[in-house]
Amino acid sequence: MTGKTKLSLIRGDITQQDTEAIVNAANTSLLGGGGVDGAIHRAGGPEILKECKEIRARQGGCPTGEAMITGGGKLKARWVIHTVGPIWSGKNRDDNLLRNAYYNSLALAEEKGIQSIAFPSISTGAYRFPADRAARIALTTLNDFLKKPRCLKEVRFVLFSDEILKIYQNCWKEISELESKIGYKGKIVKLRLDEILLPDGQKSIHEIAEHSGAACAVPFLSDGKVVLVKQFRQAIKEVIYEIPAGRLEDGEEPQECIERELVEEIGYRAEKVELLMSYCASPGYSNEIIHIFRATGLKEEEQDVKEHEPLETVILSLPEVFKMIKEGKIRDGKTILGLLLIKQLPATNS
Ligand code: ADP
Repeated sequence: MTGKTKLSLIRGDITQQDTEAIVNAANTSLLGGGGVDGAIHRAGGPEILKECKEIRARQGGCPTGEAMITGGGKLKARWVIHTVGPIWSGKNRDDNLLRNAYYNSLALAEEKGIQSIAFPSISTGAYRFPADRAARIALTTLNDFLKKPRCLKEVRFVLFSDEILKIYQNCWKEISELESKIGYKGKIVKLRLDEILLPDGQKSIHEIAEHSGAACAVPFLSDGKVVLVKQFRQAIKEVIYEIPAGRLEDGEEPQECIERELVEEIGYRAEKVELLMSYCASPGYSNEIIHIFRATGLKEEEQDVKEHEPLETVILSLPEVFKMIKEGKIRDGKTILGLLLIKQLPATNS
């Protein structure tokens, strides 16, 4: 089991699988070929090729790394997901394209609510991708995919020989032995150290700042001006303009969080808060998601000064803030994004 999904590695023929979907290692023409592709079209009958031709007529084949779906014709499987792996060239982009082929097939299966799927070893036949490298990419992509809640209940890898089955089994053993540990546990972030398996078999540590997420809002006054806070930030040792924001407390909803922060930080209660966007703040090293709201119908409210030191606020017009963004005087990411979103989506003026 990986998460709530059963993973099996078996020796067999993909055309005989009774999973809801099977994956075809197709080529970009979608017109059939040798290897798995030929076997699937032979076993499934002409209906599959007919649908492939319809896809071709609509969008001209399937680019490498992408995935398309057709019915399964006479196969036991109801669906065939056609994906195109890269032809091995020895360049780094091969790894990414193979990862895409697996990822996009899995994502398409999820989108269709498919609960069981069988994969062949994509690109390792006529396309000559080294099998051990392909196995690492296939299985790490799947393992990462299943780290989030998914409707897939079973994923099967159907390998054509004992030799390639052994390669996949050894690779899965290595993946299941990878470690993930917390290196530091602070109030705001936890530093997680994830050991990962690279396509060439080397291991590497990824440092990840785990964060509970944050909510922020552009407070929009009835005269069209916005309220920003001005404060010294220790991390950059600078005074910086920001829209009000706060970290999500345990189990807190983003909307609840921002309504609280608006009162605490700038002393306004908002009649209406609307979510404009949720974005990944720095996905290179952190899982922090920031939810940006627009707050309107603002009414001043007494702040409990003992509990919350109010921050210095500045009220600015939109032309003023855009000029400051252009001149580099507003430099905070969520603030720039929030203000640009406001410009794009004019207020409903409540
Ligand atoms: P590619 O062109 O992507 O390399 P191939 O079909 O040539 O695809 O080969 C991919 C892998 O599928 C190879 O390891 C091959 O041995 C295997 N294979 C071929 N036929 C079948 C089948 N019927 N079921 C499962 N695997 C198969």
